[in-house]
Amino acid sequence: MAEAPVMGEVVAEEHEHEEEVIVVGAGVSGLATAACLSLRGVPSCLVLDPRCRTRRTPTYLPRDDFVRYLDAYATRFGVRSRLRREVRAARFDEARGRWLVDAADLTTGRAERYVARYLVAAAGENDERVVPEVPGMETFPGKAMHAADYRCAEGFKGKSALVVGCGNSGMEIAYDLADSGVATSIVVRGEVHLMTRWILNVATSPLLIRYLPLWAIDNLVLLLCYLVFGDTSRYGLRRPATGPFSMRLLRPDVFPVLDVGTFSKIKSDEIRVLPAITRMHGSDVEFADGKRHAFDAIVFATGYRSTTKNDDGLIGDDGMAARRSPNHWKGENGLYCAGMNRRGIYGSGVDAELIAGDISRQRESKLQPQDEQRDVAAPVPSDA
Ligand SMILES: Cc1cc2nc3c(=O)[nH]c(=O)nc-3n(C[C@H](O)[C@H](O)[C@H](O)COP(=O)(O)OP(=O)(O)OC[C@H]3O[C@@H](n4cnc5c(N)ncnc54)[C@H](O)[C@@H]3O)c2cc1C
Repeated sequence: MAEAPVMGEVVAEEHEHEEEVIVVGAGVSGLATAACLSLRGVPSCLVLDPRCRTRRTPTYLPRDDFVRYLDAYATRFGVRSRLRREVRAARFDEARGRWLVDAADLTTGRAERYVARYLVAAAGENDERVVPEVPGMETFPGKAMHAADYRCAEGFKGKSALVVGCGNSGMEIAYDLADSGVATSIVVRGEVHLMTRWILNVATSPLLIRYLPLWAIDNLVLLLCYLVFGDTSRYGLRRPATGPFSMRLLRPDVFPVLDVGTFSKIKSDEIRVLPAITRMHGSDVEFADGKRHAFDAIVFATGYRSTTKNDDGLIGDDGMAARRSPNHWKGENGLYCAGMNRRGIYGSGVDAELIAGDISRQRESKLQPQDEQRDVAAPVPSDA
């Protein structure tokens, strides 16, 4: 959490809301942490989030269904939350042994202060959209949007669209556009591990994970991918030299791309693959091979970043957990981070269990001083 105070208003002591645990963020990680604390009988845990409801979600299942699921989850586990609250800064008060959390009530504009023994940063890895700075972008006269704003191909019909980025979002959006008859191009700048969901399922089956080393799983996946797709580099999709699962260890921010049908549209020229953008001249976009093509619309599927900052070593400059798993979730003075280890929803669940276990053990040992020796780090699951 950033320490710099950004709230204009000085908050009087009597306006402080005292809790045992404050969780910043009512996404999957925040709700799961609060639920695990509730199951362990930790009283007084409050979740703060600036949104009116639980958050926007990835589009793998209908948004409203997932939001309904999160709301029902929060109700079932008795999660207390205050929405329309944006946490702006937090610092540990040594004298009081408490975290002082400054938030803004986005409805009234009032500054609020929350005080808690424990603070969980669960503000997400994907809080801010990333759009690259392309020289001349301000001259583009057409529709330019981030993938987060893309809903459907309606509105693109009869136009020529460029999708920038070939991760899962970019490949799915390109498929959707091309499938609706939109003249679609996709920028593929780097290398990509294209696979299918069934190959991923085979590779991550418990039996294989248990008995095969990572290199063998990688080789099996590459063989299956070759049988399904052939040589993808012939179509502009070069594979990294490192296998997909070894890659996750080296570059946790790089995910394999699950093909939803985009590749066959690339093969049949319904989707054109282009190299990196170098600059824009009005509706003309210039590419790394020196060629120019005109577009009416651009969708930047160029990812997201975390905006959480902390200078105690728990969260790095990129807003992600600074330390490697399994030592990534616990900081000093009762500070934790959940869901910031690039392990998706699975990682949120692991972090929630670890954090709730640690907090409840600390509380128990304080309630029973003779048991102080029990206040040790939580056991870490072998796959964390
Ligand atoms: C396009 C896309 C597809 C994905 N697909 C998958 C998938 O298939 N499987 C998978 O496991 N994962 C997937 N992920 C990742 C998944 O979305 C995250 O792992 C998951 O959302 C993490 O939950 P979270 O609670 O940590 O963060 P978030 O869901 O980002 O929630 C963070 C919450 O914190 C709140 N917040 C932020 N700043 C503040 C602040 N200052 N004060 C108070 N609250 C704040 C936000 O409003 C938000 O509600 C995908 C992500 C994207 C973007």
